Amino acid sequence: MRRGARPGFVRAAGVLAVLVAGLSGCAGVSGTALPAGSRSPSGAETSGAAVSGASQSTGAGDTSGAAAGSAAATPGSQPAAEHPMNAASPTAQPLAGQVIALDPGHNGANWSHPAIINRLVNVLTEWKACDTAGAQTDAGYAEHAFTFDVATRLARLLRAEGATVVLTRHNDHGVGPCVTQRAAIGNRAHADAAISIHADGGPPTGTGFEVISPGRIAGAPDAPVIGSSGRLAVDIRNAYHRITGEPYSDYVGRRGLDVRTDLGGLNLSRVPKVFIECGNMPNAADAVRLTSPRFRERIAVALAAGFTAFLNRHS
Ligand code: ZN
Repeated sequence: MRRGARPGFVRAAGVLAVLVAGLSGCAGVSGTALPAGSRSPSGAETSGAAVSGASQSTGAGDTSGAAAGSAAATPGSQPAAEHPMNAASPTAQPLAGQVIALDPGHNGANWSHPAIINRLVNVLTEWKACDTAGAQTDAGYAEHAFTFDVATRLARLLRAEGATVVLTRHNDHGVGPCVTQRAAIGNRAHADAAISIHADGGPPTGTGFEVISPGRIAGAPDAPVIGSSGRLAVDIRNAYHRITGEPYSDYVGRRGLDVRTDLGGLNLSRVPKVFIECGNMPNAADAVRLTSPRFRERIAVALAAGFTAFLNRHS
């Protein structure tokens, strides 16, 4: 996620331009100042990542990060005792009848299709790029691979709880869709709740996660779901912090929460929806965790617990 980049710069044609866009990391290239509704400090994020096609593809069966997984429990959690392990039980169906939309941020071939992903789309508060290439760790683990792996794991857990899961993309080698379409997919599914999954490209010294909910915009389609999206954000924040042990972001947001009006995926959503920045890819400690398949499974368990808490309370 990144604010404050200049679309004119990104619109410059060519792969170099998209590489630069990719430097911005995460969910959007913003062309305007921060909205009044945002509580986060502006300009707090800087670029730390570069984009390449050499993403690591990690499937659910990938255990290459098992050693790194041991580090996942270090930031002050008691994960083993608190895992809702019954979430995967075929007999537990707490989400039966619920529809959940999962949006894995970015896509594997975005970086090589600048004409498509740099096309500007209207997100109500500004025009911004259709999509971006995303962040990566210093070692080259790409955000698009991370988000797709987490979404795949999360979809499996939610379906085991009885939910109907809708994904905005079904592989990690495509282009887009645009952020506007990512919102529309959740709307068309009449989702009971939705999430866009990301990992940040913030300053290397910054660590932690944040959950972003939409701020109020006059006449925006998300007006009826501002309150419920805020409650979803709290439930996701609480479960994520408790189960993964990842600290609240120390460079953006407040206690793991943020409100923004510059994200098309939120502004255009007619269903309760949040963004999560699961960690900060350029940060060494976060990179160890995000690269670990075991930690990503824990993230999926945490997000499933957050959805279950929200939907059992609000449906
Ligand atoms: Zn992102």
